[in-house]
Amino acid sequence: MIPYSRQSIDQSDIEAVIEALQGDFLTGGKKVGEFEEALANYLGVKYVCVMNSATSALHVAYQIIELKEGDELITTPLTFAATSNTAIQCGATPVFCDIRYDGNIDERKLEALITPRTRAITPVDFGGNPLPIQSIKAVCDKHKLFLIEDASHALGSEIDGSKVGNVADMTIFSFHAIKPITTLEGGAIATNNSDFYEKAKLLRSHGIVKKELWNSDMVLLGENYRLSDVACALGLSQLKRLDSFIQRRNEIAQYYDERFANNPFFTTIAIDAPKKSARHLYPILLDRTLWCSKEEIFKTLQSKGLGVQVHYKPVYQFSYYKERFGEQRLSTAEDFYRAELSIPCHQGMSMEEAVHVADVLLETLSAIKGCAR
Ligand SMILES: *Cc1c(COP(=O)(O)O)cnc(C)c1O
Repeated sequence: MIPYSRQSIDQSDIEAVIEALQGDFLTGGKKVGEFEEALANYLGVKYVCVMNSATSALHVAYQIIELKEGDELITTPLTFAATSNTAIQCGATPVFCDIRYDGNIDERKLEALITPRTRAITPVDFGGNPLPIQSIKAVCDKHKLFLIEDASHALGSEIDGSKVGNVADMTIFSFHAIKPITTLEGGAIATNNSDFYEKAKLLRSHGIVKKELWNSDMVLLGENYRLSDVACALGLSQLKRLDSFIQRRNEIAQYYDERFANNPFFTTIAIDAPKKSARHLYPILLDRTLWCSKEEIFKTLQSKGLGVQVHYKPVYQFSYYKERFGEQRLSTAEDFYRAELSIPCHQGMSMEEAVHVADVLLETLSAIKGCAR
């Protein structure tokens, strides 16, 4: 099976982990700060605070802005559930904004959803495709809202030559196994705001500050969301290869773009200059006439060794959300969910494998019977 995404672990990663395992501090040592500094340098931001997952980082970011009961948070339904789950955990109500047909939130529809209760907007760079973050920032500034960007797919993505992570109040990254780089599980908040950074560090570790000798104080109600030194050693090693990972994924994506141009079965999502995507996903959007056969297409591709996946079932369709917030339907998100398939695209693939994926995909789709429009 060729999975839609996969980690790449090499000898240098293994050696970095072994060295960290033999060190004096498995957690709470120097590797944490080193990884944070390396990430901050890579992104061109002032501060990075790493945590044990992007979910934890989102939860901390919402706590930093003191999101609470009665507040509303505008976000996209086309994401992993953690983006809005963590806001609900703070007591807030998620308000879902429809998307554009490229998977990113439709920034033109944000303003109509803002109420006196709205506190923040959390968009997602879908698949690594950078958001029109300046337009979203302008909406946030005008209405005095916080902007928290869930860039879990987009470590290394760029817009106008600047890395994703420089514009929002806080930007969230994920180092889950199959995200752009991995620390097994892991995540981070990037920010240029020193207060947010100091609070993030406190909330990550119980809200406890060390004083002199044995004395400490607890000043905020925090969690244990720390990332270990062993994980950070792996992250440091992975980060060195991130640009080569992105280059490889873009080579595969470019081949797909050319191979699939004008095919009768599906469209792809163009990512043109001045944007550069980390290409966490390569989504294809099936033609309407194939939507009724999507289960058959999915099963056939899987049986032929293509580890395709669907990103995402709109979050408001989950039973927890329906029971708590009622039924909802956003038309472009619904269409996108019916149309989307993520096909294999990752740095561990050879060009021959990419050709094979394209061959199998086109051959499978030409054998599928479509349905009426
Ligand atoms: C993966 C992902 C998360 C959660 O990341 P974890 O590190 O697994 O907690 C959050 N948001 C999006 C958009 C993701 O893809």
